[in-house]
Amino acid sequence: MAFFRQVRVQDNVVDASLRDGVLVLGGAPRPGEPVYEGGLLTPPLAEPHVHLDATLLGERRPNQSGTLREGIANWAALRPELTGDDVIARARSTIARYRAYGCTRIRTHVDTGCPVAVEALISLRATLRDEGTTLQIVAFPQEGIFRAPGRREAWEWAVAAGCDAVGAIPHFERTTEEGWASVRLAFDLAEKHGLLLDFHCDETDDPGTRNLEVVCAEAIDRGVGGRVVAGHCTALHSYSNPYAAKVVELVATSGVQVVANPLDNVVLQGRYDSYPRRRGMTRVDALWAAGATVGIGHDSVQDPWYPLGTANLVDAAYMLVHVGQLMSRAEMTRAVRTLWTENHLPFGGAPPPCVWWPVADEVALLRERPMPTLLAPG
Ligand SMILES: [Zn+2]
Repeated sequence: MAFFRQVRVQDNVVDASLRDGVLVLGGAPRPGEPVYEGGLLTPPLAEPHVHLDATLLGERRPNQSGTLREGIANWAALRPELTGDDVIARARSTIARYRAYGCTRIRTHVDTGCPVAVEALISLRATLRDEGTTLQIVAFPQEGIFRAPGRREAWEWAVAAGCDAVGAIPHFERTTEEGWASVRLAFDLAEKHGLLLDFHCDETDDPGTRNLEVVCAEAIDRGVGGRVVAGHCTALHSYSNPYAAKVVELVATSGVQVVANPLDNVVLQGRYDSYPRRRGMTRVDALWAAGATVGIGHDSVQDPWYPLGTANLVDAAYMLVHVGQLMSRAEMTRAVRTLWTENHLPFGGAPPPCVWWPVADEVALLRERPMPTLLAPG
């Protein structure tokens, strides 16, 4: 229960009350209830892309080169030592940070090469539900499904064990054909289990990579575009402009949501460049212009790939507007609103407002990055 005097809700400044999780316009404060003066009232934030199995592992084996390659190697070295308790303790610690920053829904990828982590996060999901946090788990084959014996089986096992979505990493498979085959197998597996799909898609600077178009074509042919997320898509940055235009249109037509991860990708990509050095982010402005839906992920919180990060999604939006040069008021506003609008699409749409920010509007939120007040379980 709370009353808001002259609070901004989207484009309007109103008096409003929060009653049993529902926002009621007008009225007056009830005796004894907290009154918030001014500020911005929004739905809780949603995180569409993070790796909770690896979170907070960065300090155990620091990534000295800062490259994706060393991150994968460090994770592979740490992975065999992990216990379920360790995975849960680190995930909980990061989830507490997410909630402090107003986020109540989290989609995590889990490496299917680590069954301990798969089981730990599935068991944690049920507990979190009772605490007002929604956790979705993507069965993510970090090292591909065709590169070595047993990987496909481990991935299929994790999907059957109770994940919410099927993942894949087509650009990491051995050949282009095997990448495309992994995409189609993921669609088949999701169809079989009635699950969502979330690809690590073309997280590379290679302009010859061609997986996003296959993801979109499969989504169109199978009529499931709204159930599919393509994360990273950094190759789109490096495509020729004519090909990029074709792919962007395909993304918009398919209904596939692209999730940009600017914090990680601006440091992990461009590593084979000398100068000029490319920005490691997908074409957010072009996707917006085409009518595609775009989410913003934090991706890593102090893990083997990215040593920084505090699970504050506003930081990810802050980085996105810099790297993407999205500096008009309209662009900055859209970037911040993404955190409580399009970031909820993988979860089926945004819940009602319940987060209060001590700032006048979205641009001020981005500038100040204050701590919010979470008023009710999301
Ligand atoms: Zn990722």
